[in-house]
Amino acid sequence: MALRTILTKEEPRLRKHSRPITEFGQKTSDLMDDLRDTLATQEGVGLAAPQVGILRRAVVVIETNVPEGEDEYMIELINPEIIESSGTQTGPEGCLSVPKEFGIVTRPDYVKVRAQDREGNFFEVEGTGLTARCFCHEIDHLEGVLFTDIAERMLDPEEYQGRGEEED
Ligand code: ZN
Repeated sequence: MALRTILTKEEPRLRKHSRPITEFGQKTSDLMDDLRDTLATQEGVGLAAPQVGILRRAVVVIETNVPEGEDEYMIELINPEIIESSGTQTGPEGCLSVPKEFGIVTRPDYVKVRAQDREGNFFEVEGTGLTARCFCHEIDHLEGVLFTDIAERMLDPEEYQGRGEEED
């Protein structure tokens, strides 16, 4: 396991387009492990490869919408694409690469994503609520987009006191 350093907003690599992953071997598997391990140490619900300086289309997202008594789990998405979305949600959003800042962002309330797993197999996964928001946020990272680009407004410090669980 290797913990990676999370880049913050002035870092130019956060603004680049990430390239697809085309080889599904040890290197990709190691990257996914590192993303998982790094996210597990953070107060966030998602992490994209460019946030650790790797300009490849890979993200991990924590599925927090689980039945009571069941554990949250991480979803690994390689080369993810949103293939369906519906509804809207407007609410606070943050980012591990933009520490201590939050903004109001409107996202779909439901998305369906098509992606590949670390063996290269295609699969589809649905997300609602925070998970849908997180899928959109992480996929934006692959295009070099930060939530601050699309926030309707940023929150004042007194408005986000006590937050921190919603950083992606
Ligand atoms: Zn982010």
